[in-house]
Amino acid sequence: MMLRAEQVSKRYGEVSVLRDVSFEVSRGQSVAVVGPSGSGKSTLLHVLGTLDRPNSGRVEIDGRAPYDLPARELARFRNRGIGFVFQDHHLLPQYSVLENVLLPTLAFGNAGACGEDRARKLIERVGLAHRTEHRPAALSGGERQRVAVARALVNGPALLLCDEPTGSLDRARAHEVCDLLFELHAQEETVLIGVTHSPEMAARFARRLELREGTCLEV
Ligand code: ADP
Ligand code: MG
Repeated sequence: MMLRAEQVSKRYGEVSVLRDVSFEVSRGQSVAVVGPSGSGKSTLLHVLGTLDRPNSGRVEIDGRAPYDLPARELARFRNRGIGFVFQDHHLLPQYSVLENVLLPTLAFGNAGACGEDRARKLIERVGLAHRTEHRPAALSGGERQRVAVARALVNGPALLLCDEPTGSLDRARAHEVCDLLFELHAQEETVLIGVTHSPEMAARFARRLELREGTCLEV
């Protein structure tokens, strides 16, 4: 198993968002997370992404229990092993496309020429070689989101978490970014977990998990 959630519960104050959520994902699988707004989809992604510690239960990624690690090692684990794509691209406006994609390689001094090589290859892969030196402001929404995908993959993560990655794009652009995510997921053999409201996008994942009133059902 690549990813395991065991009776994961998460509360914010009195509000119980996840209740004893358990599931397993094997290597290379893709899983859509669906459910009504406010059902805890983003919370689940943050917990799986080691960004938000559950109140109880256990998360295992690649045979390790990240929340057992000391803070700095947890940050390193996240940086190396997990890629994130959010609805909003979160690119840094003052940096070029190349610099934005390179950022995750700089965090723990593991950059070097090999990081830049990979960044350039990924930028080419997402169809933006001609935009390498441009700043995000010069790009369209779909192009920015493709940069965000390249950045998420630059450290070769085993786990790629996407929170409504095409939520702010028009249909045609959403389709392109979605195609790209699935192509790269197959090539890179990452586990792909994606929150989506689109039934069309959800249908492309190998599995679907639905959150409802804090519990999680395979649908
Ligand atoms: P979804 O992504 O499915 O729309 P979220 O995971 O964002 O849902 O939110 C689930 C519930 O948890 C909501 O009621 C939301 O208000 C609450 N919530 C999420 N994050 C926080 C937080 N940091 N502090 C307090 N409440 C939160
Ligand atoms: Mg959300």
